[in-house]
Amino acid sequence: MDIEKHQGGKIMDCEKCKQEMVNLFDTNVDSMLQESILKHINQCSDCQKEYHNALEIISMLKPKLQPNAPFLLKQNIMNQLKMEDTEMKTQDPKVKKISPRFKKILMVAAIVTMAMVIIPIVNNNPNVFNGTARAANSLFENSIRATQLVKSMIVKLKVRTLANDNFSLIGANYEMVNHTIYKSFSNPDKWRVEKPGRVIVCDGENQFMHIVNVQEFYKAPSYHNMIEDFKGLLEPEKILIKEQYNFKKDGSTLSMKVTDGLVYLTVTDKAQGDFTNDYMLNTSIGESDNRREYVFDNDTKLLKELKIYLVEGKKETLIVSLESIEYNASIDPSLFVLDIPKGQECIDLAVVPKGEVFTNITSKKAAEILFNGLSKKDWSLVAPVLIHYESDGELSGDMKEKFGGLTLLQLGEPFKSGQYAGEFVPYEIRLKSGKIVRHNLALRNDNPNGVWLIDGGFSMD
Ligand SMILES: [Zn+2]
Repeated sequence: MDIEKHQGGKIMDCEKCKQEMVNLFDTNVDSMLQESILKHINQCSDCQKEYHNALEIISMLKPKLQPNAPFLLKQNIMNQLKMEDTEMKTQDPKVKKISPRFKKILMVAAIVTMAMVIIPIVNNNPNVFNGTARAANSLFENSIRATQLVKSMIVKLKVRTLANDNFSLIGANYEMVNHTIYKSFSNPDKWRVEKPGRVIVCDGENQFMHIVNVQEFYKAPSYHNMIEDFKGLLEPEKILIKEQYNFKKDGSTLSMKVTDGLVYLTVTDKAQGDFTNDYMLNTSIGESDNRREYVFDNDTKLLKELKIYLVEGKKETLIVSLESIEYNASIDPSLFVLDIPKGQECIDLAVVPKGEVFTNITSKKAAEILFNGLSKKDWSLVAPVLIHYESDGELSGDMKEKFGGLTLLQLGEPFKSGQYAGEFVPYEIRLKSGKIVRHNLALRNDNPNGVWLIDGGFSMD
């Protein structure tokens, strides 16, 4: 697909695709045009990336759009396109090829649309900018400028988490763990997020994750979200806009003041998700009552400081502390490549899972099949539900050794909690070694084939 892009005829297709892509988000466009755009997107990895980027921003905007806004949005995008076309012609033709045009245009659209929603906040809160138009305008200009000014950044953070668990995991009782984010605002963007037990690298096309303690490697396309809550920090030029745009009135508060060239923004939020069962409560920033304190540079609107507190009643715990953020620092390009040892298996998360045995059943039944299979050492039976652990259909010796011949003692009723897309199944097993393990198996079937897959609560440690 990459080769196609370099052929003369295909360049126009990509250009046209990116220009017309906006029509996919409009209901009043003829389906023939939409079809031909989709057809191109399906065949072109480059345009696919643009499309996912557009989807992300559009999905952020959509719920709050006014009835006539799609038209307005489109007009703004079209005007911006014309403007850019004129600009581009005066530049080096190489610049045109690498310009992240659509991304920038959607940013513009996002900010223009935001001018409509920012009004109620301004009216209700005397601390927020006065002069909506001026504020929106300045956000618009500065955010665009910021994306052009910033070529790279290095962020150092401390997060209360476990060094070798998911990036979004937090907990009031965990120790502070050092994190470093490296980002190159090139086209495509490249970045690296690391803590002692886990590293994720995006080389622009794919993301690679290394889980250090179990020496496992994972791969996914760049638009997958492997770093979870840290995603926002990769785009420090959008935080100020996103926080205001995503502001929810129920139980949340937002205050902003500008002093001495700095913008102080404080947002308090209630835990988001289903907490009928509170298993996941306070395990991630989104799934906890929290307060986020930001400081931005008022000229560039770039992030300078950040502290996030977990709020449990009257008790507050600092869970994220930004230690330093350095823009336009020089970064060794080798940091954007993950060294995968030769012969090392790398699990591809984009592969559509197959496994009829684990489809059209309850999560509890899937757990039962898994444990009975491990009990009988029927490795090929259990392999499909474990593809996030072992992707080639062959379980590792360690896993066979630990779980083979176990005894299933008890399975509880499945429950949902927080923002987890799947279900949790409580279990109690006795390993061959005699050790009793009690935990909640995390299973999800939100994949095209509806296959139950285990992605937590089952550990080789
Ligand atoms: Zn294309």
